[in-house]
Amino acid sequence: MNKKQQFIKDSEQKAFDTKHRTIIDFNIGKYRSAVVKGKQQFINLDLVRQNVSNIKQHTVENLDKYLKEFESNFTKNGGKIIWADTVEQALSEIIRIFNVNEAKTVVKSKSMATEEINLNEFLEKNNIEVLETDLGEYIVQLANEKPYHLISPAMHKSKQDVADLFYEKFSFKQNAEPEELTEFVRQKLRKKFVSADVGISGANFLIADIGGIALTENEGNALLSTSFPKIHIAIAGIEKLIPSINDMNQIWPLLSTHGTGQKVTVYNSIITGPRKIGELDGPERVYLVLLNNGRTDILATEHQYQALKCIKCGACLYECPVFRTVGGHTYDSMYGGPIGSVITPFIKGKKDYSHLSFASTLCGKCAEICPVKIPINNLLLHNRADFVNENLVARKEKISFEFWTFAMSKRIRFDFANGFFKNIFINIFAKNIFGKKRQMPRFYRLSFSSLIKKKKIFY
Ligand code: SF4
Repeated sequence: MNKKQQFIKDSEQKAFDTKHRTIIDFNIGKYRSAVVKGKQQFINLDLVRQNVSNIKQHTVENLDKYLKEFESNFTKNGGKIIWADTVEQALSEIIRIFNVNEAKTVVKSKSMATEEINLNEFLEKNNIEVLETDLGEYIVQLANEKPYHLISPAMHKSKQDVADLFYEKFSFKQNAEPEELTEFVRQKLRKKFVSADVGISGANFLIADIGGIALTENEGNALLSTSFPKIHIAIAGIEKLIPSINDMNQIWPLLSTHGTGQKVTVYNSIITGPRKIGELDGPERVYLVLLNNGRTDILATEHQYQALKCIKCGACLYECPVFRTVGGHTYDSMYGGPIGSVITPFIKGKKDYSHLSFASTLCGKCAEICPVKIPINNLLLHNRADFVNENLVARKEKISFEFWTFAMSKRIRFDFANGFFKNIFINIFAKNIFGKKRQMPRFYRLSFSSLIKKKKIFY
């Protein structure tokens, strides 16, 4: 079964999973009411959105300049940059750091870039113990699953699901309350923070003018993961740049409001290199792996490059009717939902993942909600056009549409076949494309224009 067939199979299964739908609807309901309150902090939200959109647009258009500026300042601060064009390069550089330092244990904070390179699996194969420290990530690690959503990795699990999981794994009290589970995890993690050899994090933003890594979180675990171990390795996509620390006063509240509905996230840290003389805590060495992995291919496009403005708030996922129906895991990508459907084909391969750009109703809700005003639905259309031109869609689909265009482009051709033939055509060909469960329209025996010609319709 290829990736597209798997996607269709999983989508169908998830779409009829009523338990999944109930949990997702409940969690999205809570998110929506928080966002309404969070947005009230802005006197002019649209102005802030436009400002941040402009900042990101400018950064993406001048990425080479800001990458160089960041590298220079980060290096001056004592950090070390590792440029990784591919996943393989990133992994081989990371394992080299582990081997040189004989490191065997890792505490890790939430990071989609590490999911992108499958870092946990890679390190575990190399006999390195990895522990996720974000509660949501810890839950999905325990369940042997992948994160479900950019911001809320375990949003597909109910309170009871999590209690059952802890009972199964640790024989922890049955039907435990979330507070009890959180406390249990906190105690477990605390010991690991102080003993781990390496702390791994992602980066929410990379601030060029100060050479700093900005991290935002609610639990403080990223702060602990990056302060206690002697070595800190951060992994970030090259699009994470922003020009100046002065931009953060607008970016941080905009991100937190759209991500969780908070005015500002609880812990916001900026890491500017390793511990300096006289400082009491912090790592001795800080490495930053700057990952390309298809991003320069996105940058080279005429339109889709705008997807690199994304600040990974996850709002478009919550609002997407497709995401809510098929669920986060069905995309088989760390970046699910509408924005994931734009970028995943570039990051994980167009041949296997181009179908994601077609998995959209194009309703436009994603673009409407996006804090940095990315026209996501238009970008999906540009992907579709490019993939058709690059022959990445199924041949029978392409032929069907060519035939359809040919038939529809002239009235005489369209009227040539009567309703009987049109119904046969649409039920045989279109059903294959749109799915067997979709109810097709029924054509009347005669077309509208022939009815007029026969004077069966008067106006
Ligand atoms: S595309 Fe926009 S709404 Fe979606 S995750 Fe990125 S910033 Fe948020």
